[in-house]
Amino acid sequence: MSTTTERRTDIGPPHYEQFLHPIIKKNYGQWKYHEILKPGVLAHTAESGDVIYTVRAASPRLISTNFARKLTALASKYADGYLRFTSRNNVEFLLANKDNIDPLINELSEFTLVGGTGKSISNIVHTQGWVHCHSSATDASGLVKVVMDELSDYFTSMKLPHKVRLAVACCLNMCGAVHASDIAILGVHRTPPRIDHESLPNLCEIPTTVASCPNNAIRPTSIEGRATVKVDEDKCMYCGNCYTVCPAMPIADALNDGVSIWVGGKISNARTEPMFTKLAVHYLPNNPPRWPEATEAVKNIVEVYAKNAKPYERVGEWIHRIGWPKFFDLTGIEFTKYHLDDFRHAGTTYKRSLQNRY
Ligand code: SF4
Ligand code: SF4
Repeated sequence: MSTTTERRTDIGPPHYEQFLHPIIKKNYGQWKYHEILKPGVLAHTAESGDVIYTVRAASPRLISTNFARKLTALASKYADGYLRFTSRNNVEFLLANKDNIDPLINELSEFTLVGGTGKSISNIVHTQGWVHCHSSATDASGLVKVVMDELSDYFTSMKLPHKVRLAVACCLNMCGAVHASDIAILGVHRTPPRIDHESLPNLCEIPTTVASCPNNAIRPTSIEGRATVKVDEDKCMYCGNCYTVCPAMPIADALNDGVSIWVGGKISNARTEPMFTKLAVHYLPNNPPRWPEATEAVKNIVEVYAKNAKPYERVGEWIHRIGWPKFFDLTGIEFTKYHLDDFRHAGTTYKRSLQNRY
């Protein structure tokens, strides 16, 4: 008979330490400095004098088996089997031997790009999109592919004033780092959820559905004696959170969904505070498979920034220096009423606790 102590489960990932490169394991937390040898190649030097080289390449995040096999074959050949994926979906090969850098880059260049270091555009961190998520207002992988096709020259070079971090999130829930990226594409719904009153009582728990709304826009009600909910459309911000909890409240709308563009965010570092993105373009249509409007809008912002920012100025810092009116002027983006934050219920309805007010 099995006992509790013998029970094995598959809960949780294996401990990361077993996957560390031996040089990283030996010098863990004892790094002296790093330098960028050329686009896509980093060298980290430890206190002990050990050096480990990193070759960074592009990956589309949703990768094919063939692509994964090619990467692992190259890792075995040049990097003692060690590679990792960064949070922005770059693939990094960890090399102990400097002589392997150029042969690895030559082979990688046959099927992907090497770069994403220093004053460049790194891969776009992104969410699930139409492939996986129920509440998406746009696609993620497709959008990322076409934007990076346009910007790949900024991935393989280091000619921008500073690094530019891009993000795509396919709805307001923002699983991607939209709030903290230099330029972000955010999928937007523009209509409230449609309530299927017939199915709702059978599919959804009403208290949970009411509680799912961050703006307190959902109220219990009854129609012809059947318990259901209603939505105060003035308070709805089209986030789709209720649909996550209640499948009888679909929000996707092919004719009205689209994308918005946000700029100026970044995470904090040792010297500066974090900055949050602000709205640049309130709506562009979903236009797959190449999303020309969204792609052009992002490229325009990158190029105006590249031309006007001072060295080592991030996008948000550049806008802060020149001012928002000048940003709209230089980029040619129209300033609209949607740029004014006039959500009049914010003070009273944003939830600050787990309590509900009716
Ligand atoms: S951002 Fe929204 S639609 Fe995209 S994966 Fe997250 S919850 Fe789903
Ligand atoms: S959860 Fe979001 S989409 Fe649903 S009613 Fe509330 S604000 Fe609107």
